[in-house]
Amino acid sequence: MIQLYQPLNFMGMVYREIKQAIIDIEKMFNVLGREAEIKDAPDAKPLVISAGTVRFEDVRFAYEPTRPILKGISFEVPAGKTIAIVGPSGAGKSTISRLLFRLYDVSGGKILIDGQDIRNVMQASLRASIGMVPQDTVLFNDTIRYNIRYGRWDASDAEVEEAARLAQIDHFIRMAPKGYETQVGERGLKLSGGEKQRVAIARTVLKAPPILVLDEATSALDTHTEHEIQGALDRVAKNRTSLVIAHRLSTIVGADEIIVLDQGRIAERGTHAKLLAQGGLYASMWNRQREAEAAREKLAKMADTS
Ligand code: ATP
Repeated sequence: MIQLYQPLNFMGMVYREIKQAIIDIEKMFNVLGREAEIKDAPDAKPLVISAGTVRFEDVRFAYEPTRPILKGISFEVPAGKTIAIVGPSGAGKSTISRLLFRLYDVSGGKILIDGQDIRNVMQASLRASIGMVPQDTVLFNDTIRYNIRYGRWDASDAEVEEAARLAQIDHFIRMAPKGYETQVGERGLKLSGGEKQRVAIARTVLKAPPILVLDEATSALDTHTEHEIQGALDRVAKNRTSLVIAHRLSTIVGADEIIVLDQGRIAERGTHAKLLAQGGLYASMWNRQREAEAAREKLAKMADTS
């Protein structure tokens, strides 16, 4: 009886794991709002990364045919460099990251990675090459270790913990009741936006992709959290082709190029210093954020002393 029971028990475990993996993938896609109509072309080939250069060529896109969102966007992220996209809310910044991940197909123009149109490559190989740190990270109702290992299932415990250290979330995890085995989610430990984003960074460290896309959370973070996240990101972005969708301009001062998007078009582009000197849209966004930060800090100080 026992002889029969063991394999059955094992098969049950495998079945449960597969089922869970399917549920996780479905959850992920639901949250990302992915539409199922994107399919591999019949002759799709695996993406071959030689250097990791990303190019947008006259990209046009609309979610609904009557309302164009991107109206001819061209830029290049050279291999190993960091390009930041900034602009007012609704300008189309996150749409750019969704198109690169091919959650939607462009309506015009093309997106190339090392010269290969992403519509002609296998989606699995495209997504395996891109590390996506989204605005809102999906955490599963499982342990924190499971949530980090999601970046690469065969990672060892030591690798998971090393990734957490690099993402500056290790200390926080060790303070939790059961450390890495603490449950997170609805009935477990609740993580703030900044902590979730660091879990996403740890996942990306494990995945070690040649291309990194960071969609910065919109919410204002306190200066300390922002520094921690920034430090983690700088380490992950080093020597990787990185596209940063930025809401806080302070995080992208060092980018190789900043692209200012306005109503679906590139309004300005250049380094931080050049754009500030230009005195245009970027300069006014920068000044406004500085004023808002100064006001926030003043309020925080007043709260501290009262
Ligand atoms: P924010 O800074 O507020 O995050 P953003 O520049 O990243 O804004 P996007 O998220 O790219 O802006 O959205 C651009 C426009 O597309 C917005 O007007 C938004 O309402 C619209 N949009 C986004 N997602 C969808 C969707 N799934 N269906 C229809 N319209 C959408």
